Amino acid sequence: MKAEGLVKAKDADLSPNLAWKRRGQQRPCADNCPRLSVGAKLRSLHRLQQVLRAFFVLIVILVPCWLLSQSSPAFDLVITNGHIIDGTGSPWYSGDIGIREGKVAAIGSLSSAPRRRTIDAAGKVVAPGFIDMLGQSELTILVDPRLPSKIYQGITTEITGEGDSIAPLNDAIIRSARSVYQHYNITPDWRTIRQYFARLEKQGMGINLASYVGATQVRRMVLGDDDKQPTPEQLEQMKMLVRDAMKDGAVGVSTSLEYAPAPYAKTEELIALASEAGKFGGIYATHMRNESDSVLEAIDEALRIGREAHVPVEIWHIKVAGKNNWGRMPEVVAKINAARAAGADVTADTYAYTAWFNDFSAFIPPWAHDGGNERLVERLKDPATRERIRKDMLTPSRDWDNEWQEISGPDAIMIGIVQNPQLLPLQGKRLSEIAKLWNKDPMDALFDFLIEDPLAGVAVFGMSQPDVTLALQQPWVAIDNDASGTSPEGILGQEHPHPRAYGTFPRILRKYVREDKALTLEDAILKFSALPAQRLRLADRGVLKRGMWADVVIFDPATVRDLATFEDPNQLSEGMEYVLVNGVPVIDQGKMTGALPGKVLRGAGYTP
Ligand SMILES: [Zn+2]
Repeated sequence: MKAEGLVKAKDADLSPNLAWKRRGQQRPCADNCPRLSVGAKLRSLHRLQQVLRAFFVLIVILVPCWLLSQSSPAFDLVITNGHIIDGTGSPWYSGDIGIREGKVAAIGSLSSAPRRRTIDAAGKVVAPGFIDMLGQSELTILVDPRLPSKIYQGITTEITGEGDSIAPLNDAIIRSARSVYQHYNITPDWRTIRQYFARLEKQGMGINLASYVGATQVRRMVLGDDDKQPTPEQLEQMKMLVRDAMKDGAVGVSTSLEYAPAPYAKTEELIALASEAGKFGGIYATHMRNESDSVLEAIDEALRIGREAHVPVEIWHIKVAGKNNWGRMPEVVAKINAARAAGADVTADTYAYTAWFNDFSAFIPPWAHDGGNERLVERLKDPATRERIRKDMLTPSRDWDNEWQEISGPDAIMIGIVQNPQLLPLQGKRLSEIAKLWNKDPMDALFDFLIEDPLAGVAVFGMSQPDVTLALQQPWVAIDNDASGTSPEGILGQEHPHPRAYGTFPRILRKYVREDKALTLEDAILKFSALPAQRLRLADRGVLKRGMWADVVIFDPATVRDLATFEDPNQLSEGMEYVLVNGVPVIDQGKMTGALPGKVLRGAGYTP
């Protein structure tokens, strides 16, 4: 009877019976139920619909969750047993790091958590990926987007664009750099930073990259290479170009005031341009007007630009150059400490070698660059002008960075990267050797070399080790490579770069941390990660913490080392066991994977 009642009820009205059944009670009128009224029937039907709907919703929610839990584990990757140095300067601690969808999803004891892959980091340091404060890879990333020289150092992000940025571009600027584009086999098919970033994203990149817009780039767009001052209208055009670049995603405005036509810019022009960047949350980064006899005055100029443009200031590759200035780093440090104490947001970075690397043509006084490289070559060919240049270089001056006065002699200059293929055999040779080879006075050898290749780059041995170490130790000094990403293979491998291109970060870990004990490992990692991230407002990188992008390096602090030397620079560093960029290994068990997981990092002013 009960059954019959249930069956009957099933036909007509399931829910009341089920409700009774659930309550474990007998339905009161199992045999002789009065027929339900129409209203009651409708109400019952409504209740049935509600229950079915709730049931359906539960199925819709639970089944995919169950399926997901079966198909995707909690983590894509768990790094276990490592010493975590989180980038903040805190001492190392033990723990597992769970990575999911490119980000650090958990840190703690994750031994039982499901995961796709485990990396055992026993005996190794696990740290945030290194940030290169001046990377210079904007062109070479188009040649080899993996950037082997960078990732083997543990670099996962670089900031680039030193005075001359990748964009904006016009036909005249492209024409002046034709030999460089040809050398790298690149067709410059972008005109703005936005278009360049789009090209990068289309091709893929091994590391993350951000860029400044160069004040010199903007100047060249409007004024060309001449030694002249902008009219108010021209300055407005330049400011507009800075605004456009900031909206395209630049992280600030930069200068490189040693190289023509940059020195022609007065401080007021730079304040005007930096102010525009400041309105978009950008900063001002600078290769200062002088890094030798007038270095303190140059710092004053950088501080004034920061103060009047209301922007933070980053001093690139801080140094005291030239034999006459050796031992003056304490003055520079005291000056910056005083400025910081007075409220100036100023910091710096270094590559921590005693040789710099720059344009060979930087030895020539700025006036002789007026009009660009073709005019420079004409002047070097003209006997009277050549003599005037020689005289200027032989005269100590505080008005320009006279590098000839800063070196001990022609053996302090080593030829690095040449653009003229006929000069390739001279890469790695000292100017003293070339002078002997050509049977010329060293200064004539320099002039004649520039006539053949005005775009050549040279290493110059002109700093003292105690100055370099003291700068590195300052808590406001981060690290830069100041060299484009390169590779021992292909056309990039034919160049002869400064060894910092391959070695900067591992060299600091080997020399300054392990051998000289000038820095603790935790302080070095802080300089490599949280400090630069904070400078560039990269709020989701630079520290190992839940929610941050998983840029991670794993290395053995006892063995990590640089191999590149001035004589034999094309050697990858050793010891980076794993390098993850946005959670994806670009180095896996010490080998390059070829993955291109990098992202363009756009500044605060970016408008899509
Ligand atoms: Zn520089």
